[in-house]
Parts: sequence; structure tokens; C-alpha cells
Amino acid sequence: MPKSNAQQRALIVGAGIAGLTTAWWLGRAGWDVRVVEKASSFREGGYMIDFFGPGHEVARRMGLLPALERWRAPISSVTSVDSRGRRRSEISTAAYEAVADGVISLLRGDLASAIRDDVHAPVRYGTTVSVVDDGLVTFSDGTSGEFDLVVGADGVHSRVRELVFGPSFVRYLGHHVAAFSVRDAALSARIGYRYQMLTVPHRMIGCYAVRDGATAALMLCRAPSAEVPDDPAAALRARFGDLGWVTPSLLSVVPQDVYYDEVSQVDMAVWHRGKVVLVGDACGAVSLFAGHGASLAMAGACVLAEELSAGFDGAFARYQARMKPAVERTQEFGRRFIGWMAPSSAWRISVRDLVFRLSGLPVVRNLVRGSLVPDVDGVLTPA
Ligand SMILES: Cc1cc2nc3c(=O)[nH]c(=O)nc-3n(C[C@H](O)[C@H](O)[C@H](O)COP(=O)(O)OP(=O)(O)OC[C@H]3O[C@@H](n4cnc5c(N)ncnc54)[C@H](O)[C@@H]3O)c2cc1C
Repeated sequence: MPKSNAQQRALIVGAGIAGLTTAWWLGRAGWDVRVVEKASSFREGGYMIDFFGPGHEVARRMGLLPALERWRAPISSVTSVDSRGRRRSEISTAAYEAVADGVISLLRGDLASAIRDDVHAPVRYGTTVSVVDDGLVTFSDGTSGEFDLVVGADGVHSRVRELVFGPSFVRYLGHHVAAFSVRDAALSARIGYRYQMLTVPHRMIGCYAVRDGATAALMLCRAPSAEVPDDPAAALRARFGDLGWVTPSLLSVVPQDVYYDEVSQVDMAVWHRGKVVLVGDACGAVSLFAGHGASLAMAGACVLAEELSAGFDGAFARYQARMKPAVERTQEFGRRFIGWMAPSSAWRISVRDLVFRLSGLPVVRNLVRGSLVPDVDGVLTPA
């Protein structure tokens, strides 16, 4: 157990939402914090997330809300279109906000950037861990160090988790996802600041204008195997090439470094061992079907820091006891939501679109609230 704050050394693996938030809170609590990040530089942009719930409250406590408001994407609606781009149904942002209290839609990279701007700990990019032996860590560049605390915040495919806990724990949800941005002013003007999506059974393609004349795209499809293809751009062309609307334009410019991944959750009985603890997607990924992953990652980081401040002994168990029920409820919610985001039949797509059309009515709004928002209350202590 560390003897005093001045001597406490923490290593955080992963400079994403969970890692940077942990660095922020531990730094404020007096820890000497180091961060290593596998990517060669800070990961900008990415996909749009809806940010609300406990993470929003953590952001408020960190004083980040003004920055997040500056990054807020001016999306006015979510629109379902047909293969010729004609509107099938629409839910206005105002109606969505009435369901999802305080929601801020912004790019994942913009959220991470707002947190990073307020983190004082040094981040070593292009570096990962090759050995984690309790507090003794060997890095990919051959250097090593000893730490009182090692936080695995390295996402759904966590290396720390694999090294310390073993290879299993990932629950595949039967889908692949890709996200990328293209700079095409004409396309951006055509799409506008509406989240537009074309859904056919088991496949969905969505896009929306982002700043500087760019368009962000999201592609989601059912896939029997979790294994991702060697050439994601070619796989996307093969999988989505028959769809109309703006799909041909998007497929003609898929970048080689497109974000492409299996859609999975992480399910572990215990999130800690010795001096090592996991936070965010590394221990409790809920998947894009649930949303809320970024929000829970921030809440987890804050709760972990709170429990460490209350006393090192038992802190990890107390942190897990506070977070895990909300994570499990959100995961369960995510599995139910697959049918909303990637409906399996034309009939189900029509039902979803009908609910969208009626979402302006308060009675329908109340009915769908439980389908759109998981129950994540109660993880934070009152401010
Ligand atoms: C398409 C999509 C849509 C989503 N929509 C929403 C939404 O609407 N709302 C919401 O709240 N959440 C959403 N999420 C989920 C959310 O993005 C994640 O849950 C959240 O980013 C998790 O944060 P994290 O820090 O745990 O992981 P990440 O953000 O993935 O960060 C992990 C970091 O660790 C780094 N890393 C990985 N491996 C190593 C290694 N071996 N060594 C060092 N560093 C490493 C990575 O490069 C990355 O920087 C969505 C996710 C996807 C894919």
C-alpha cells in the first residue's frame, strides 16, 4: 500500500475517455500519474456519440461543460431515409433531448480532447505495455517502471486485461461497425446537420455533416464471425455496394485507416487483481448499441478515484460494487437495442420508423424513454 500521496505512482494505459478522466481525477488527488498510449498521436475525430447520464455529471464536476458545449454538433434531427434519399420518418433533436436529459452530441475525439486539455500528466504516445507483473511494468520500448497502481484503460481489446486476467471476457454481438470522415463539400451540403440513415434488414448506413465541410459516416452490418477483414475498405464495398442513396459516394472514398471493429461487450466477474484495476470499456464495454460507454467510462474513472481517496485497501472492490450493476443494466439494454439500430426485417424497420414519427407526442415519448435510455442512476455520490 502506498505510504503517502507524494509517493504514489500511477500508470494509466490508454489515453482515451476512461484513461484521461482517470488521469484528471488522480492528478487532482495528488498522485504522480503517467499515461501511455498505443496510438502514435492523439486520436482526433472519430464517430458521433450522444453524451449524457452520469458522465455528463462528471464532466460538470470537472468544469468541462462549457468546452463540451463548444464542441456540440448542431444536429437538428435523426432522419430515416429510403434508398433514394427520401425521408421515411424523423425524430427531432428537441424530442430526443426530452427523452435523453441534457444530451450533448459530439465527436468522441472532441470529448477526449476537452478532457486532455485539462490533464497535466505526461502522455507517452506510441507506447504500450508488454509485461504487467502486478506493479512492475515493462513497456514496448524496452523500458520498465514500478507503480503503486496500474490502471488498464485501453479499451474493449485491452492488452492489460489480456496480460493480467487472460484472453476471454469478450461477448460478440453479431455485428461489425465502421466509421470514417470524408471531406466533400457537396456531400456535406446534401446531408446537412441531420443524422440521416438508411436501414435495410441487418445493415445500416448513417451520415451527418461535421465541421469544415466534412461528412462523418457510420456503417453497421450483421456478421457471423467476430473476425475483422484484412482489408476493411474492400469488405465495406462488398457488403454495402448494392445500397443506393449516398452509399456509392461514401464507398468510393473509404480511407485505408477507417475505424473498423467487431461490436462487442466485455463481461468480467472481477475488474481488479493486486495493484491492477480496469476502467471503461476494458472491463465493462457496453457497445455502441447501448450508447453510454463514454458516459460510464467517465463515471467509472471518477468513482475509482473517489474510492482510492477514501483508502487504498478495498478501494477496487468498492469501485466495482458501485459501477458494475449500472454497467450490467446498460449491457442488457444494449442487447435489446440491437433490434432498433439494426432491425432484422422490413417489418421491424417500419415499426421503428413509426415510433420515430410519433415521437413528438408526449405519451409516445414516455413509452419509448425506457427503450432509448438505460437506467444508470445511482453510481455517483451527490456532489
Ligand atoms: C460507433 C460507436 C458509437 C458509440 N456511441 C456512443 C454514444 O452515443 N454514447 C456513448 O457514451 N458511448 C458511445 N460509444 C462508446 C464509447 O465510444 C466507448 O465506450 C468509450 O470511448 C470508452 O472509453 P475508453 O476510454 O474505455 O475506451 P476508448 O475510448 O476506446 O480508449 C481506449 C484508448 O486506449 C488506447 N489503447 C488501446 N490499446 C492499447 C494498448 N495496448 N496500450 C496503450 N493504449 C492502448 C486506444 O488507442 C485508446 O486511445 C460508441 C462507440 C462506437 C464504436
